[in-house]
Amino acid sequence: MSTIEIKNLGKKFLRSGSSEDTAVTAIESLDLRIQDGEFFTLVGPSGCGKSTLLDILAGLAAPTSGEVLVDGEPVSGPSLERSVVFQQYALFPWLTAVANVEVGLESQARRGRGLDKSGRRIRANEYLRLVGLQGVEDKYPHELSGGMRQRVAIARALAHEPKVLLMDEPFAALDAQTREQLQDLLLDIWNRTRTTIVFITHGIEEAVYLGQRVAVMSSKPGRIKEIINIELDGRHSVDDIRSTPQFSDYRHRIWTLLHESAPSAGNSPVSRKSLVSPGVPA
Ligand code: ADP
Ligand code: MG
Repeated sequence: MSTIEIKNLGKKFLRSGSSEDTAVTAIESLDLRIQDGEFFTLVGPSGCGKSTLLDILAGLAAPTSGEVLVDGEPVSGPSLERSVVFQQYALFPWLTAVANVEVGLESQARRGRGLDKSGRRIRANEYLRLVGLQGVEDKYPHELSGGMRQRVAIARALAHEPKVLLMDEPFAALDAQTREQLQDLLLDIWNRTRTTIVFITHGIEEAVYLGQRVAVMSSKPGRIKEIINIELDGRHSVDDIRSTPQFSDYRHRIWTLLHESAPSAGNSPVSRKSLVSPGVPA
């Protein structure tokens, strides 16, 4: 569990061989504080800077301006305390499921902070069980379905018990039913561990279903447009929540915010009227 402070963050990408004038501003003056143990989701249109932000939080990319503090310490590079799960199953194809989970534990062990070999095997198996993968420990990624591979990726991210879990559209490549299963699995894990989670998605329903707060991003440049507290009574079952009026209200509010921030051509007040899509109340 950890508090994340994002202060006046900016990120520009320079087009190679050109001057700063033609830089792409992916993120501009972004301020955000994510609480210890929070499940925070971030939704925004394609290209608005979500992955750029996540990469900076992970320490995989450096900001052009501003800074990110985790528990008061500036992020200056990748750390096992901040695990990342990407959309594509970043598993090693030549390693079994259990060996893929052990990879992170091994690098921890090399730094003298980890478990011995048998401890690592036990821990990896524990986390494969946690994500519902007992029985497939010795299978290779190509022998697993997409949903199972993403479960392995989640087990790997969690096995070394990071303070922060960073997820970049982790379920976007899965079919709807598998996606809903993994959403519930993730909520279940979060309820048990209270790991701080930053979850990026372009799915409005997914953002509302998972997040305690949903940040809506606008694009060009990427900024936080609004943050919405999600309060849904009685999380009984998937169907219950998603069919409540409150859920529809949140969904509609976020949908509206996203369409207000649609870039260029579709952004005039006149053409915006034509953006009402079927199934979403106008
Ligand atoms: P999202 O994840 O929300 O779809 P990204 O963070 O990937 O958006 O991209 C934000 C903006 O930054 C886009 O305009 C994209 O083209 C640009 N961008 C991202 N990565 C690079 C890069 N390595 N070089 C140049 N431009 C980039
Ligand atoms: Mg992205």
